[in-house]
Amino acid sequence: MESYNGIPIPTEGEPIQVKDGKFIAGDKPIVLFIEGDGTGRDIWRAAYAVFNAAVEKAYGGKRRVVWYEIFAGEKAYNKLGEWLPQDTVEAIQRFRIAIKGPLTTPVGGGFRSLNVTLRQRLNLYVCLRPVRYYPGVPSPVKHPELLDVVIFRENTEDVYAGIEWRQGTPEAKKVIDFLNTELDCTIREDSGIGVKPVSVEGSKRLIRKAIQYAIEHKRRSVTLVHKGNIMKYTEGAFRDWGYELAREEFGDVTIPESELSGEPPEGKVIIKDRIADSMFQQVLLRPAEYDVIATTNLNGDYLSDACAAQVGGLGMAPGANIGDEHGVFEATHGTAPKYADKDVINPSSVILSGALMFRYMGWPEVSALIEKGITETIRQKTVTYDLHRQMEGATKVRTSEFGAAIVKNMG
Ligand code: NAP
Repeated sequence: MESYNGIPIPTEGEPIQVKDGKFIAGDKPIVLFIEGDGTGRDIWRAAYAVFNAAVEKAYGGKRRVVWYEIFAGEKAYNKLGEWLPQDTVEAIQRFRIAIKGPLTTPVGGGFRSLNVTLRQRLNLYVCLRPVRYYPGVPSPVKHPELLDVVIFRENTEDVYAGIEWRQGTPEAKKVIDFLNTELDCTIREDSGIGVKPVSVEGSKRLIRKAIQYAIEHKRRSVTLVHKGNIMKYTEGAFRDWGYELAREEFGDVTIPESELSGEPPEGKVIIKDRIADSMFQQVLLRPAEYDVIATTNLNGDYLSDACAAQVGGLGMAPGANIGDEHGVFEATHGTAPKYADKDVINPSSVILSGALMFRYMGWPEVSALIEKGITETIRQKTVTYDLHRQMEGATKVRTSEFGAAIVKNMG
């Protein structure tokens, strides 16, 4: 019997397919899950119940997910002696979509991070972070509801490419000597060195996905966020390639902001750009003017957490890593180990990542039910400890009870 990590492939259900860049799920798709370490166990249990209830409610038994567990992180290490087994990567290659809880980052062991390794091995070049407000969630700003952005962060290049040399090593010295003697640079001899590659291909495929998303979801604009005033040939080039791509591939359905006079023409997505530092002010001061955002890796890392904080923090923020043929949907927070197995942690991040996953699978009815259930539960002020400590008059519930309330509130 065929298996991955020693677990037989389910005898029913079929793999999700990809056609023209879209995931296509049949009525009984096999969907992979990685439970996650620490509090991953608590949030997965709650999320699993919510997902199955939403599918049942949406399709009344006509459709069903066949869940198939794969291992990564501590659970994989304890069972199989490896943090990221090859079988896990191959299972995602074959079944295409997985949802995962947070993973402990091993200290040493040859990994920078399991998440980064997964992204690279599966070529998941988009980090997708939708950020919107759920009424009632405590927020540090006056009008959190005005922020509703979908951030497309490039996932494979930039200073995250992992090309760096420690100060004092022969490699660092060699690079410094080369740059100083051959290219007329003046780098201090005692520097550590990192490289920031930003390519045409890496930038355009990311920006293409952002524009396609804006068109499909009838969003108003795509903002290219960059630091091109300083880093002209990486960040500035990212902006230029973005405008070029919009003109060449989406010329009939997009318009650059510079060509606008008055209201944008009906059915056209505005393409604009902002310098990264100014963008951090813009999302606070004029949040309603931003919609889909496409940006380089480091900018996107900072901006997505800053935006998440504005609407109530990482506990509520869904995320996904997507490529042309695979998607891994994930909680954006860590394993919060001090709360592990206590049934107290907020499961919203992984549950909302599930809502995102069902939308990508072409099951939007399930996503709508999950979002409705969460919105209503928070509106009733039935919340886990993290929100409870900041909300007046709220009822504190366990992770499992919060999940049950979401199911009840689906309608
Ligand atoms: P963390 O696990 O995110 O936890 C930090 C704090 O954030 C928690 O103590 C808790 O704050 C709050 N928090 C996180 N998730 C929450 C939730 N679902 N509900 C309510 N509160 C939540 O960060 P960490 O302690 O820095 O990292 C722990 C481990 O996770 C490390 O091994 C790290 O490498 C890993 N990690 C994994 C991922 C991933 O897999 N995507 C991401 C980040 C970190 P209070 O104590 O104030 O309540």
